[in-house]
Amino acid sequence: MISSFSVLLLYNSLVQSEDIQENIIHDEPVYKVHTNDDNQLEEANERIKLLESKLIELESRLPRTNAFPEIKFRNYKDKKRILVTGGAGFVGSHLVDTLMMDGHQVFVVDNYFTGSKRNIEQWIGHENFEMVHHDIVNPLYMELDEIYHLASPASPPHYMYNPVKTIKTNTVGTVNMLGLAKRTKAKILIASTSEVYGDPEVHPQPESYWGNVNPIGPRACYDEGKRVAETLAYAYNKQSGVEVRVARIFNTYGPRMHANDGRVVSNFVIQALENKPITIYGSGEQTRSFQYVSDLVQGLVTLMASDYTLPVNIGNPEERSIKTFASLIRDMVGSASEIVHKPEVEDDPQRRRPDISTAKKELGWQPKVPIEKGLAKTIEYFRRELSRTDNSEKHNGDAFEYVL
Ligand code: NAD
Ligand code: UDP
Ligand code: UDP
Repeated sequence: MISSFSVLLLYNSLVQSEDIQENIIHDEPVYKVHTNDDNQLEEANERIKLLESKLIELESRLPRTNAFPEIKFRNYKDKKRILVTGGAGFVGSHLVDTLMMDGHQVFVVDNYFTGSKRNIEQWIGHENFEMVHHDIVNPLYMELDEIYHLASPASPPHYMYNPVKTIKTNTVGTVNMLGLAKRTKAKILIASTSEVYGDPEVHPQPESYWGNVNPIGPRACYDEGKRVAETLAYAYNKQSGVEVRVARIFNTYGPRMHANDGRVVSNFVIQALENKPITIYGSGEQTRSFQYVSDLVQGLVTLMASDYTLPVNIGNPEERSIKTFASLIRDMVGSASEIVHKPEVEDDPQRRRPDISTAKKELGWQPKVPIEKGLAKTIEYFRRELSRTDNSEKHNGDAFEYVL
């Protein structure tokens, strides 16, 4: 058996010549074996033909290094040096796509805790793009104009997996990014969350609401971590004049969500696609409001460009119960899954819906993508992911379940 590596080596030597590339599609093998033994000759030529067809298949799978999309041209003065921490994650990678298409120099810093190189592989090798494997709990030195600080696990099972690390990332990591912004005079946007409102007693939630967070519950590492991140941002702003933006992001979904991260959209879509039971935690009467990822990215970019420095809710105010959401996904997939109830999750916020009047007034932003359209794209993405056979990161077939 010839290994794929040796096929690749052979491929590399073959593709030196354009003639060969053209000939390779012909029925006759390009290389011929010289021997007088007819049987040996025929066997060897058959083997070469087989190898050549494998090369064609391999070529179609190789990354096409010059196949980048056409990006906006910017000259040296207009081109910003932008850092996206957590840029290999779900939201970060979509933001990277937008910033790259807009012609900026984009640096991604990620420790791959929940992110994946696959999310940004489309830019690897591009002259405007650089990927740095780094944990932001450690200091980072580079020269920048803007920082989108997104690095943090975001789904409850992920941030509960190592609560101390979640706190360090959101506190020590945020100090480092603010220190970096201070030294380079870069503008910094902090990705905060609706979780700063905890299990809210005010509905819908305006930015002026201070929240209802259990400081020692299972969500505290994330909720309190993000609350400190906001506090740090305004302390650096006040004490050192750092230009800060704070986005309070509400539930977001779309392609490149982590298949095993246990969030409701990925779980329900995967369960429906596999005709497995759809698991509702608790009664299903609890509500969420879901925004499509492209709306969020537009909101973040608009906030960064604005002069507004106070926190802004970025979310879609269309609110649904988790029960309704389960049926909607099942119907859209056309699945035979039954809907089952599991024990409710500790400290699960019962209602969540953003008041987005600040974003409308100060940024002229509001979400545009209807849930059916966004879900259709997300379902299509997971359908493709589930049919992958060539990647070790392939989803293992089971939706993640909370173990609390
Ligand atoms: P994600 O888990 O897909 O992405 C987070 C990225 O940060 C990953 O690539 C991960 O590897 C990286 N990371 C984590 N710790 C790090 C560290 N110490 N150093 C370097 N990199 C690290 O999550 P996401 O959904 O893309 O969320 C991005 C940001 O948006 C997070 O800050 C999250 O809190 C916030 N947010 C997301 C949502 C949502 O619904 N997706 C809602 C509210 C807030
Ligand atoms: N820092 C960094 N990159 C920089 C500047 C600072 O990572 O370019 C980190 C560094 O670890 C520092 C922290 O940010 O401790 C806070 O910086 P700040 O200037 O506020 O404080 P100090 O340097 O006095 O600790
Ligand atoms: N949820 C559920 N089944 C699942 C995953 C989540 O019923 O398989 C519920 C969860 O209890 C919560 C809501 O869906 O009420 C949203 O959960 P998610 O983890 O997506 O986000 P968050 O709680 O951070 O808003």
